[in-house]
Amino acid sequence: MDKTFLMVKPDGVQRQIIGDVVNRFERKGLQLVAAKLMMVSVELAEKHYGEHKGKPFYEDLLKFITSGPVFAMVWQGENVVEITRKLIGKTNPMDAEPGTIRGDYCLYVSKNIIHGSDSPESAKREIALFFQENEIVEYEKLIDNWIYKS
Ligand code: UDP
Repeated sequence: MDKTFLMVKPDGVQRQIIGDVVNRFERKGLQLVAAKLMMVSVELAEKHYGEHKGKPFYEDLLKFITSGPVFAMVWQGENVVEITRKLIGKTNPMDAEPGTIRGDYCLYVSKNIIHGSDSPESAKREIALFFQENEIVEYEKLIDNWIYKS
């Protein structure tokens, strides 16, 4: 089954919307398989956002993501990367449609509440950065018979 890495950023944790965010993925039918509240070290932030090194927003992004606890998660489901990116909405909340997380909860690109992997390859890389293999819980969700096409 496909997996992705999602993270409520420090702004989302401070605004106490972890539950709302989790609820959106749960009600869609996706499955939570790992989660933890944690601080992101500068070293981890540099690895996670390595592709943005040198961009004008990079230093502020590192400061922001290390400024307070994040809620890191692994979610599972068919096409989970594509589906969660849709539910999250465009990077800039000004462009994010109402009904998406960024469209509903925030105003600025620098405080856009949530991170979601943008491809299966980055999902694999990011899950490995944030979680040990034994932190991912494989379990059967019986209601899937009522969610997935047979
Ligand atoms: N970001 C920013 N300013 C920008 C572009 C990006 O602060 O002009 C931040 C923002 O928090 C974004 C993150 O950098 O979520 C990573 O950017 P990316 O383009 O990978 O967007 P995402 O995959 O998060 O939608």
